[in-house]
Amino acid sequence: MVKYIIVTGGVISGVGKGIIASSTGLLLRTRGLRVTSIKIDPYLNIDAGTLSPLDHGEVFVLDDGGEVDLDLGNYERFLDVTLTRDNNITTGKIYRDVIERERKGDYLGKTVQVVPHITNAIQDWVERVGKICVDGSGQEPDVCIVELGGTVGDIESAPFIEAMRQFQFRVGHENFFLIHVSLIPVVGSVGEQKTKPTQASVRDLRGLGLSPDLIVCRSTKPLEEGIQGKISMFCHVSPKNVMAVHDCKSIYHVPLLLHQQGIIDVIEEKFNIKPIPNPAAQALFTKWKQLADRNTRYDDVVTIALVGKYTDLHDSYISVVKSLEHASLSLSRKLTIEWIESSDLEASVQQTDPVKYHNAWKNLVSAKGILVPGGFGGRGTEGMIIAAKWARENKIPYLGICLGLQIAVIEFARNVCGITDADSAEWNETTPNPVVIFMPEISKTHLGGTMRLGDRPTIFTDGSTNSITRRLYDGAGEIHERHRHRYEVNPEFIEQIENKGLSFIGRDEKGERMIVLELPDHPYFVATQFHPEYKTRPLGPRPVFLGLILAASGLLPEYLESLKTSKAAGSKPKLGRYQSVLSVNEEN
Ligand code: GLN
Repeated sequence: MVKYIIVTGGVISGVGKGIIASSTGLLLRTRGLRVTSIKIDPYLNIDAGTLSPLDHGEVFVLDDGGEVDLDLGNYERFLDVTLTRDNNITTGKIYRDVIERERKGDYLGKTVQVVPHITNAIQDWVERVGKICVDGSGQEPDVCIVELGGTVGDIESAPFIEAMRQFQFRVGHENFFLIHVSLIPVVGSVGEQKTKPTQASVRDLRGLGLSPDLIVCRSTKPLEEGIQGKISMFCHVSPKNVMAVHDCKSIYHVPLLLHQQGIIDVIEEKFNIKPIPNPAAQALFTKWKQLADRNTRYDDVVTIALVGKYTDLHDSYISVVKSLEHASLSLSRKLTIEWIESSDLEASVQQTDPVKYHNAWKNLVSAKGILVPGGFGGRGTEGMIIAAKWARENKIPYLGICLGLQIAVIEFARNVCGITDADSAEWNETTPNPVVIFMPEISKTHLGGTMRLGDRPTIFTDGSTNSITRRLYDGAGEIHERHRHRYEVNPEFIEQIENKGLSFIGRDEKGERMIVLELPDHPYFVATQFHPEYKTRPLGPRPVFLGLILAASGLLPEYLESLKTSKAAGSKPKLGRYQSVLSVNEEN
C-alpha cells in the first residue's frame, strides 16, 4: 500500500513548499524507501508548455516529453527519479478528463458535478500515478508526496482540498500524512515573529476537513523561543510536530534541518513503519551532508556569464542555474552568475543607454565562461550572437544550449564562413541563407505540445572519439538527453560549416539532425540542441556543465588527462585534490 504525504501551504504562496516536500522525500530515501511525487497546479492550462517563462519561470521537460511545472525539476533532482507528465496535475487536465468522459456517455445520464465527479477524478489520478515506478527498479513506490500548489483558501484549489479530504478515508488515515507549510512573518522595528497568520491558515484547513500532522514554520531567522509552543497550543498539534525552517545558506541544508528536528521519526511513527535502511541509502545521507558542507567552504570562485533574454526572472533558467551550481559544487567552486540581458550587448544600446551597454560588456568580458541558454523568438538574438563571437574569438569557454547552439551556428556562418546574412528562419523567414530552419516533424499552427520534446538519442560520429564532449560523456557512442525545440541546423549548410572547422559531433539516429557541436582548437566551445540541464543532479552534474566549469576554472585539461589514465587503469577519474569530490559523484 502506497503511503501519501500531502503538502499544503498557508499565508502566502512561494513559501518553499516544494523544497520542504522534496527534502522530506530525500530523507525518506535515506531510510531506503522508494519515493515518488505529484505536483498539483490548480490553473486551467493543460500543462506549462504555453506559459511565458517571464511570467511563470522555466518550463520543465520530462523524458516522456511532458512540459511541466518547474517544481517537478526539484523533485527529480532531490529524489533522483524520472517522473512522467501525469505526475503534474492541473485543473485543466482533470476537467478535460471528466468532460471527455461525459461526452462518451460514461456518466449514464447523471448531472456531472465538481463533487463527486471532479473530486473523484482527482483521487483516481493520485492513486493511479502514485503507483507508477519512477526509479527504474520496476517496483511500486512506498511513499507518494503530493504537493498542492497555491495556498489553502484559494478558490481554485478548493476542489483539490476537498478531494484530499475524501482521500484520507479512501486510503485510510494511517496512510495519510499532512504537512502544512506556513509563514511566520516579522513585524515592527524589533522584528517580532507573529503566529496569527499561521493559526488562521490552520483554522481554514480544519474548516475544510483536513488536520495537519506536521506544521513547518518558514521564517527568515530561526524561531524565537516560545513560538513553536504557541503554534502547538493554538493549532492543536503536539510540540514535536511543529518544525522550523528558517532561510539557510542553501537549499541543501533544508533536509538536514528537518532531520535534526526528527521529521523521519514523526512520519515513520504515523505510518507505523520501521524500514530497514540499506548501506546505499545510509551513504546517501552522508553524501548529502558533505554536499551541504561543501556549500559553505569553497576553494575558489568561478564566474559564468548567462546571456539570455528572460534574465528579469531568474527562475526562467532554474535548471540551468542548478546545473551550473551542481557542477561548481562538485569541484568546490563558488559559482557567481553574471546575468546579462542579451539585447544590452547590442550596438544600438550604446546610444540609447550607454550605462546598461557598458555594464553588460564589463560583465561579459570579466566572466570566465559564457553560457547562452534556450529561448524563443528573435528579440535579443543579435546580442547572443555577439556573445558567442566574443567567446569564440577570445577563447573563452562557451556552452550553448538549444537556442545557444543555433546562435553559435549563425555566428560561425556569418563571421567564419563569410555568409554575412546567415540567420534563423524562426525570426527571419525571408533570409536567403537560413542556417537554422523549421524541421517538419510537427505542426506549425498548433503551439501546445507540438515541439520535438522529451528524451531522444544522440549518436556521436565516428570521428568524434577525441572530442571533449564525448570524453566528458565517458566515451559513450550514444547518449540520451531531453529536447524542446522546433528549429534545427539546416542540413544544406553542414558541409560548408564543417569545412571551416566547426564539427557536428553528435547527430540523431538518421544523421540528419545536428545535436552536438564542438569547435576544435578552443579551450571549450560546445553547444547542444538538447537541454542537458533537465537531468542534472546535486550529486551528479551533467557532463557538459562540468566541462564548462572545469574549463572556466582552468582544470579541464587536467581532468581529461585523469579520465584517460583512470580508464586505462580501470579505476575512477582523479583530479588532484578534487579526487574525493568527484568520486562522490560517481558512486551516486
Ligand atoms: N526557439 C528555438 C527552437 O524552437 C530554440 C528552442 C529552445 O531554445 N528551447 O528551435
